[in-house]
This record gives sequence, structure tokens and C-alpha cells, in this order.
Amino acid sequence: MDYNKLAELLFPDVVNGPDYYEKKFPERDLPKGAEVTRMAPSPTGFIHLGNLYSALADERIAHRNGGVFYLRIEDTDEKRKVDGAVETIINVLRYFDIEFDEGAGFTDADPQNVYGPYFQRQRVEIYHAYAKDLVKRGLAYPCFCTEEELEEVRKKQEEDKAMTGYYGKYAVCRNLTLEDIEAKLKAGLTYVLRLRSAGSPDKEIVFHDRIMGEIKLPENIHDIVLLKRDGVPTYHFAHAIDDHLMRTTMVIRGGEWLASVPTHYELFHVLGFKMPSYGHTAHLMKFDEETGGKRKLSKRKDPELSLDYYRKDGYHPMAMKVYLLTLLNSNFEEWYEKFPDKDIKEFPFSVEKMSQSGEDAQTGQIPVRVGIVSVMPIIFASTLLSLPQLLATIIGKGYGSGYSKIFLEMLSQKNWFDKEHPEYAFGMLIYLGLIVFFAFFYLTITFNAAEISDNIRRAGGFVPGLHAGEETELYIQSISRRLTSIGVVLL
Ligand code: GLU
Repeated sequence: MDYNKLAELLFPDVVNGPDYYEKKFPERDLPKGAEVTRMAPSPTGFIHLGNLYSALADERIAHRNGGVFYLRIEDTDEKRKVDGAVETIINVLRYFDIEFDEGAGFTDADPQNVYGPYFQRQRVEIYHAYAKDLVKRGLAYPCFCTEEELEEVRKKQEEDKAMTGYYGKYAVCRNLTLEDIEAKLKAGLTYVLRLRSAGSPDKEIVFHDRIMGEIKLPENIHDIVLLKRDGVPTYHFAHAIDDHLMRTTMVIRGGEWLASVPTHYELFHVLGFKMPSYGHTAHLMKFDEETGGKRKLSKRKDPELSLDYYRKDGYHPMAMKVYLLTLLNSNFEEWYEKFPDKDIKEFPFSVEKMSQSGEDAQTGQIPVRVGIVSVMPIIFASTLLSLPQLLATIIGKGYGSGYSKIFLEMLSQKNWFDKEHPEYAFGMLIYLGLIVFFAFFYLTITFNAAEISDNIRRAGGFVPGLHAGEETELYIQSISRRLTSIGVVLL
């Protein structure tokens, strides 16, 4: 078949070839050893603990040696898109003190955004240039199979007890002639563009994962879809081109992507790209009280998987960051105990020290660490708000502001809070008693005693993390919210 003719037939408007883009997006001029990492989420609006975990690793890896950490939005699936998702990602990560150097969030006129656009839907022209080139080289072909035809293939495979998918002898459109294709196009049939996989079922790929070590996986044999019927690329195709053209050197991503590596391996190979190095992170696990075993954190069952949970519940972002770093690098804790006054950015982060097995994301451990700190703001907040006001607020919230006025009136008559008055000591006793009670109540519902004593030692390092500013304000607000709700329970 004349593949050049086929390429012109399918992509008559594509004039630039891969060379054009290779020149437009040259290698980055960075110091030796600097890594280019990225976060490449779909804009679903949901960003979870696992995303933060990988993003923190990406950010540390890029910034420890003068590299670049950028944000790319993988919005090829229109159905999953949620308005405002990009702002959410940027704001949530900023809350945890993680900043991007370039990408979505900056405008394309900003000087650092030279590898854009950073939204995949705006890059379709680029993907088509590479798709056309693959067709020219006989490595991709149009497939006109309808859903019903694909279903028939699947049934046949089940009868044959063969693996399901579009591959080998089951890939019926693989061998269409140019005339067949021309006729189908003339008849107005739509098509997807598929890779002509050269993989073999009895061969393996071996690659070195920066976290998992040496990995062997069967070669990809599927003629995967590169472009969908509307010409929009699939994630696999788009991400390979983007990681290459944005000159990404290291990809840290969730372990759920490990199974896709053979597909990515073949794509990078046929596209003639050097693969970035990969590190697939272990799953975040939790202790399951029902089964007594460990299980993956689940979006449905575990509210603590959502990052909003930590923000709303008042965990200090600094404590979260320290906590995640202890999960990410086994030697972080020791380093932090040795240098409690150092900025954690000085910690020599290492990909190789990232854990290979499931990390225990026991939320219990975070409050323990934050909990000690949270006693400080309780005291702090209590000195800011005088007790009568605090209690009046509690009563006001619980019963309406009329009651809080009556309460304040009662208190002023009692003179409990007038230093000059003998009843002052009694008032203070109640005041301190309540603080201790609140703190104790909060601690006991969240931690067990052994953990507390262990963490009192560690907590010292967190308190200096409380700087004046918006975060601390938010934190104190949430603590007083918590006091308020406990107060309401008490009254
Ligand atoms: N867009 C993918 C996601 O939503 C990113 C996978 C990758 O990092 O390669 O998680």
C-alpha cells in the first residue's frame, strides 16, 4: 500500500511534520542533573492524597537541582471535565506550599511558558502531525469498526478463549486496502486511528523503574487507539508526545499506571522518542478495621483521601507536608529530628529512597503530629478570644445570639473574669479546666496514648512551622470551629 497516499488522504490539512515541532521545542537548557517533572491530571476537580504525594515528590525532585516542575492538563476526555478544576489544583497545591514553575495556570504569554500550550485539547494540531507521520511509515491505520462489530470480535474471542482486545488476527481493519479505505471514507464512515502494534505475546519488556526497580512486563500487542473518531487523541498517545516535546525527564505517577508501561514503551519507540525515567509510586494504604488487614485508600469509603478533608478539618499544611515526606523518604524523619530548625526544602530528597510497598496512610498519624500543635493554637486562640467571648460564641452558635447576650450579662454579674474580684480565680479554674478538657477530648478521640508520648518528642519541630499569615489564620479558625462544636456538645 502507498502509505504516503493514505497519510494525505487522512490528514490533507496537516502541513508541519515532527521535525517542525522538534525544532520548536528544543531540549531545555538546564544545569547538569536537573530534572523536568510534571503533574498531568485530568481536570475532574478531585485531587486526592495520592496526587499530593506524587506532586510533592515531583516538586522536590525538580527543585533540588534547579529543574522544572510544570502542570499539564490532560483534558482529552470531555465528559470528565469540571469547571474550575485547574484553579482547584493550583490552589490546593499552593496551600501545601507546592508551586509550579510553568504550565497551565500561567498564560501562554508568560515568559516561562515556552513549551505550551499546556492543555491537551489545544494541542490537537501537534498530535495530528505525529499521527500523519506514523501513517506514512505504515505504523498506524484507520479502523472503521462500529461498536457492534467490536462486540462481535469480543464474543469471538470469548469463544476462542483468547485475550480480548483489538490485535493480531482479530484486528480486521489492519489489512484494509487503500481502495477499501477510500470507499469507506466516501461513504461517510467515521474511523479511529490505531497503532499497528509490532508486539509479540511471548516477549517481555524490561525496564528500570526508579522506585520499583527492575520490572518485566509482557510486550504490548494491542492496536490501541491513537486518535478517537473526533480526531482528539487518547491519553496514551497525547501524553507520550507531550512528555517528549515538553522535555520531561522524569515521571512520578501512581502505581495504577504501571500496567500501561508496555503500551507507552511501544509508543515512545515507534515515535522515535527517548523515554523519560519512570517512578511508579506505591499505593496509599490504610488499616481496615472491618477485615483487620491493609487495603488501598478508597475514594468511596475514605473521606481522608480527599485533600479538602484535611483543609476543612484544620490540619496544618506544614504538618501534612512533613507527614507526606516521612512517607515518601524513609530517611526524612531521622533528618528532620537532627535538623528541626532547617527548612524542609533543604532535605536531600531521593527517588531511590521512595518506598516500593504500599505506604500506610493512617490518618491517625497525622492528627498525632498536628494534634500536639493543635494544643498550641487552642491556648493561643483562647488568649486571643477572652473566655466570655469564646463561650458566648459557642452559645450563640448553638442557641442563637440572644442567648449569648444573656450569658455575657450573667458572667459580668458574677465577676469571674474581673481580675480585681475574688471570684476571678474560680473563673480562671473553669477556663483552664475547659481548655484541658477540650484538648483532652480532642486528643483522646483521635490518638492512642502510646502514639502521643512518641509524638510529643517530635512535635517540637512543628510548632515553629506556625507562621503568621493566612494559613495560620485558617488553622486557628478551624480550631475555634472545633472548640465551638465541642462546646455545643458540652452545653
Ligand atoms: N492524566 C493521567 C491522570 O489523570 C496522568 C497519568 C500520567 O501521569 O502519566 O492521572
